[in-house]
Amino acid sequence: MQQNKIKLYVIGDPIKHSLSPIMHNAALQKFKLDGTYQKKRVELKNLALFCQNIKSSNCMGFNITLPHKIDILPYLDQISLEALHIGAVNTVLIRNKKLLGFNTDGQGYLQSLLEQYPIDFPKIKILLLGAGGAARGLAYTFLENKVKELIIANRNLAKAESLKKDLLKIYPQAKIKTVILCSKELSPILKKIQLLVNATSIGLNGSEFENFPYNMISQDCIVSDIVYQPRFTPLLKAAKKRKLKIHTGEGMLAYQGALAFEIWTGIKAPGKFMHRALLKELRSK
Ligand code: NDP
Repeated sequence: MQQNKIKLYVIGDPIKHSLSPIMHNAALQKFKLDGTYQKKRVELKNLALFCQNIKSSNCMGFNITLPHKIDILPYLDQISLEALHIGAVNTVLIRNKKLLGFNTDGQGYLQSLLEQYPIDFPKIKILLLGAGGAARGLAYTFLENKVKELIIANRNLAKAESLKKDLLKIYPQAKIKTVILCSKELSPILKKIQLLVNATSIGLNGSEFENFPYNMISQDCIVSDIVYQPRFTPLLKAAKKRKLKIHTGEGMLAYQGALAFEIWTGIKAPGKFMHRALLKELRSK
C-alpha cells in the first residue's frame, strides 16, 4: 500500500525569512520520507480559519513562528502541559482531525546547549536577558532543570516581574530575581553567573545593547545568544574577544525543529543532522 505524502508547514507573518524548510526538507530526504515542508504566510485575521481548514486536510502538522505562538492557543483541541506552562505553542500535530499543541523551544535550546557544554543546573546561576515569548520558554526550562538561581533582566521591568510571578506559580520554591536591563545592578550579577543568555531581540541584524558592561562577565561564564542572524552577534563577539565560552543561536532553531520532526514522524529527533543542514545554509549566505 502506498503511504500518503507527508505535508508540513511553518506559519507566521512575515514568513519569508524562515530557515525551517531547509532543515526539515533535508531531514525528510535523509529518512527517505516522501513529503514537503513549506512556508505559509498566515495573517492574524486568518489564523482561526487556517486552523479550522487544516484539520480536514492531509497535513500532518505545522510549526508556528512569530507572531502567532500565543494567538493560536484558543484554536487548539489539546495543549501539552509544557506549552500550557510556557503559554505558547510552536508545534502542532494533526491527528484524527484534532490540533495538538506542543512547545519544543525550551527543550530545543537545552539540547543544543548540552550538546556543546555539560551543565549541572542545580549548581549554576543564570542571567536571562529578556522577558518575551522566547525568554518564557527558556525560563521555564531552566526552572524545570532546577537551576540554583535565575535572574531575569528586561528593559520593561514590569514584564520581567510578570514572568517571575507566573513562574513562581509553577515553581514556588524557585529563586528568581528581576532587574532592569543595562542598569547599574547588572555588573555585580555578571560577576557571579555561570550562564548568560540573550533572549531579547537585540543582536538581530547586528543591533547592540546600550551600555552593556561586557567586561564584568565572569571568566567562567558561558555566553549564549538565541539570536542567530547574524550567527555571531555583538554580544558573542564581545565574549569571544574575552575568550569566554560561547553558544550560538542557530542550535536552538535546529533542535526545536528536530523535536517537532520527532513529534510528527515518530523518528528520533535528528538534531545534529538538522543543525549541520542549517549551518551549511547560514554559511552560504
Ligand atoms: P518578543 O517580541 O516576545 O520579546 C522581545 C524581547 O526583546 C523583550 O524582552 C523586549 O523587551 C526585548 N527588546 C526588544 N527591543 C529591545 C531594545 N531595543 N532594548 C532592549 N530590549 C529589547 O520576541 P521573542 O521572545 O519571541 O524573540 C526574541 C528573539 O529571540 C527574536 O528576535 C529571535 O531572533 C530570537 N529567537 C530565536 C529562536 C531560535 O530558535 N534561536 C527562537 C525564538 C526567538 P521589552 O519587554 O522591554 O520590550
